[in-house]
Amino acid sequence: MAARILDGKSLAAQVRAAVKAEVARLSQRGIRPGLAVILAGDDAASRVYVRNKARACEETGVRSTVFEYPSTVKQAELLERVRALNADPAVHGILVQLPLPGQIESEKILEAVSPAKDVDGFHPANLGALLAGRPRVVPCTPAGIMRLLSEAGVPLAGRSAVVLGRSNIVGKPLALLLLQRDATVTICHSKSKNIEMEAKQADILIAAVGRAKLVTAAMVKPGACVIDVGVNRLPDGSLAGDVDFDAVQNVAGWITPVPGGVGPMTIAMLLENCVKAASL
Ligand code: NAP
Repeated sequence: MAARILDGKSLAAQVRAAVKAEVARLSQRGIRPGLAVILAGDDAASRVYVRNKARACEETGVRSTVFEYPSTVKQAELLERVRALNADPAVHGILVQLPLPGQIESEKILEAVSPAKDVDGFHPANLGALLAGRPRVVPCTPAGIMRLLSEAGVPLAGRSAVVLGRSNIVGKPLALLLLQRDATVTICHSKSKNIEMEAKQADILIAAVGRAKLVTAAMVKPGACVIDVGVNRLPDGSLAGDVDFDAVQNVAGWITPVPGGVGPMTIAMLLENCVKAASL
């Protein structure tokens, strides 16, 4: 039987509608949520992501402002901008679009963002709160995945969850969120041995690696829930996830498509984090 599709596009539209209603409620208190985005360099994918985020803000009534810098920008300039945004009462959320140009120490910029305005949840204070089991602002992609799983009623407690990828923005925070929901979590990375065997025992398999079609049907336990975070550009210009969707959908119980799965949820969670920051 073909897997049930976890439709991130439609769930994200529901989240955006709820955000829009919350923005309208906040406007009665004279508050308009504001997001500031820092975009440095000329990474083509980053420009597309920022454009999509700005469009989603506009649609829900969140004010968004993009501060653009050339790839030669100095670290001091970015730090100065972050400090000014921290102090600006009209700005409730600050997003630093990654990757930053090579000469910039990204951690220094992320750490300069006020934790209360850190709508990406990348500040060490917010990551630490998540580790301590008292999440405040949760990184958007992991938060979006958890929402997809809970909306679909995918059982987590006592189940085996395998996360492929250990980045600070996806793999690690997601593993912590799954642990908090009582899953038994394994994290795999580029040095892991026998990823195929680890993946095959997963009830919930999450691929956040950035390698097109890394996850084959042979690596998936029948009936498992497969979440594909990967966004890979193929030589013909088309997009592919980390999962071989056509083959895996015949084995899995649930699966996210690419595009239309995790991606739209990431943006929806950003809007939600922004509105929450404005409500505080
Ligand atoms: P990243 O920082 O490059 O991390 C990739 C992770 O995969 C690393 O932990 C790496 O291990 C691991 N890895 C590399 N090769 C591997 C292999 N053969 N087997 C197992 N693990 C391997 O990437 P990221 O930022 O987490 O993003 C991952 C993917 O998700 C990318 O395609 C990105 O575009 C996509 N993404 C999508 C969204 C969305 O909203 N849809 C959001 C964020 C990211 P090491 O740590 O050992 O190097």
